[in-house]
Amino acid sequence: MISVIIERNEYLDEIILEKKEDLHHLLHVFRLEIGDKVRAVDGDYEYICEIQKIIENKVHLQILEKREDAFSLSVDIDAAICLIKNDKMDFCIQKLTELGIRSIIPTVAKRCVVKLKEKKEKWNTIVKETMKQCQGVKPTQIQEVTDLKKLPLEDYDLILLPYECEEEHSLKYVLQNRVEKPRKVLYVIGPEGGFEKEEIQYLASKRAEVVSLGKRILRAETAAIVVGGILVHEFG
Ligand code: SAH
Repeated sequence: MISVIIERNEYLDEIILEKKEDLHHLLHVFRLEIGDKVRAVDGDYEYICEIQKIIENKVHLQILEKREDAFSLSVDIDAAICLIKNDKMDFCIQKLTELGIRSIIPTVAKRCVVKLKEKKEKWNTIVKETMKQCQGVKPTQIQEVTDLKKLPLEDYDLILLPYECEEEHSLKYVLQNRVEKPRKVLYVIGPEGGFEKEEIQYLASKRAEVVSLGKRILRAETAAIVVGGILVHEFG
């Protein structure tokens, strides 16, 4: 079923679509007609609808069923990703949205070499497009760019810090030896140049668990997506 993203609102029995891009998507790309089913999501709920009327650049959807969000994970998983080149960050945002990561914090560390132009709008468009495809209900939030030292670490009950120089603790070991299921998990991925030792020490002093992802050195975007996938599999 084709998905459209709508604003949060008290929808009772009708949803009216007016945005050009939605109309184009439904009427021209997918050639939907009166009587066809459409799925609308507002970040909290999923509405199963039927096209009732198409008049004057408006599509009226009749709500057949309102459903609770069954597409989000039971644990909040957030990713702090140090700034990487634009296309790689875009790729990460797309993949982490597909996986259902709750929020992404673009993070600045000492060895970040990327200069940031205003990207938030583009990142939000990527999230929106991905949401249509992946059937999610709650969009991944893209947070403001944040300095590593200003990450809200106290909000999390599990913080994972993949570090290529760690030799003993693997991510697998840490996950297998946990007793309680966490409610909020953060993982922090370093820049292409890696973390500085002092940054690792700072995060470790704030309860971050330093983990290895294996002997090979992964690119930052690979590490970001792989760890996201492992955590979704473990806790989702
Ligand atoms: N410049 C560094 C590599 C940085 S890789 C070097 O060449 O040595 C970018 C980020 O991916 C790292 O900061 C880390 O968070 C993660 N990463 C990559 N490979 C890893 C591994 N084998 N174990 C743990 N973390 C890894």
